[in-house]
Amino acid sequence: MSYIKDNIMDIAKEIEEICHRMGRDPKEVQLIAVTKTIDAERIREAIVHGITDVGENKVQEILSKYDDVKNVRWHMIGHLQTNKVKYIIDKVQLIHSLDRFHLAEEINKRAKQINRIMDVLVQVNIAQEETKFGIDAKDVYGFIDQIRGLEHIRIQGLMAMAPFVEDPEEVRIYFRKMKQLFDEIKGRNMPGVEMKYLSMGMTNDYKVAIEEGSNMIRIGTGIFGKRNYQK
Ligand SMILES: *Cc1c(COP(=O)(O)O)cnc(C)c1O
Repeated sequence: MSYIKDNIMDIAKEIEEICHRMGRDPKEVQLIAVTKTIDAERIREAIVHGITDVGENKVQEILSKYDDVKNVRWHMIGHLQTNKVKYIIDKVQLIHSLDRFHLAEEINKRAKQINRIMDVLVQVNIAQEETKFGIDAKDVYGFIDQIRGLEHIRIQGLMAMAPFVEDPEEVRIYFRKMKQLFDEIKGRNMPGVEMKYLSMGMTNDYKVAIEEGSNMIRIGTGIFGKRNYQK
């Protein structure tokens, strides 16, 4: 039996168990397999075992695997340089890492050129870490107001990365804050803004994230094992 299959089945079981306990429908939690450093063959194996969505944090990696990995939706989950938007604008389903106005303008421009509307999430730097990208929680409203008029962008939710800690209980508070912000924005019913996805939770902390209301989790190590950055 393949370890990738086993891991995917274990995670599906966890999602089901947590949702059952929380009174949520497991189908509302979308699992994204994070495939950075993972070769096309292993990604295809994950797809055989039920993965429908994959996430990459580098444009170059999407481009190098794109033709070898079919029947899957691609997500851009990492920091996106403005000058690379043009390479992925026709390839990705959702950009999770919108974190500055200039980037929004570029996505809007490139999406318009190919006559599509690009779905995006606003990345929030929820713990105000200097090492992380994202908008401060207090500035999210202003940022959304600034970009929601861009006609070829559709704001579909929020994304966050919690601080790296050993015990995920320590970051529960940040997931809770994200859910509050998400619900608040949703409650305002702003034209052009749909709060549909709350993308948070990785291998180490996804269980807590789901308990706190995440509906999109991004898991790499938990599916494919430890990453090898050497190659
Ligand atoms: C690498 C990465 C993940 C997955 O991390 P794991 O700990 O391997 O599950 C999730 N989100 C982003 C933005 C990442 O870069």
